[in-house]
Amino acid sequence: MSKNRTHPTISTATADAARTTLLPFWQRPLAELNRQQWEQLCDRCGRCCLVKLEDEASGELYYSRLSCELFDYATCRCRDYPNRSARVSGCIELTAAAATLDWLPSSCAYRLRAANLPLPAWHPLISDRTDSVATAGIAVNCGIALSPAELAQLPTPPDAEDFLIDPL
Ligand code: SF4
Repeated sequence: MSKNRTHPTISTATADAARTTLLPFWQRPLAELNRQQWEQLCDRCGRCCLVKLEDEASGELYYSRLSCELFDYATCRCRDYPNRSARVSGCIELTAAAATLDWLPSSCAYRLRAANLPLPAWHPLISDRTDSVATAGIAVNCGIALSPAELAQLPTPPDAEDFLIDPL
């Protein structure tokens, strides 16, 4: 005599959770990423390291071609990443719980994923190449930020207001 077997039922929530864990981490919600995955999401474009000015009246944000004092133009990275917020006043440490990410450039991986948008083809996690951010003209050391040589040519310390650029 055959036994009547029943299959365990899987709730929709459990099935959704299982599907999410099967996704590559850059397609999962930001809140689910561990520290290492969170750091890997950064495309190292350096756009968030540009000096920005905010219009006090309108709250509008303007990017300039000047970069943070800790920005390394050659590598497009911070020279002291672990201590950046202690060393530079106004440096914001990005976390999944950050209240707002809208000050970041529209190309930023964190901003894209917060809006549940896919990473672009030039993102190193998609292209599998570290140079694709520069090739796509997204990295700020490809003509966006003033280079050390350009800065050295300036007669006086630069004022960000003189180097404002279109929104990134
Ligand atoms: S703008 Fe976003 S992706 Fe680019 S370096 Fe900054 S945090 Fe990373």
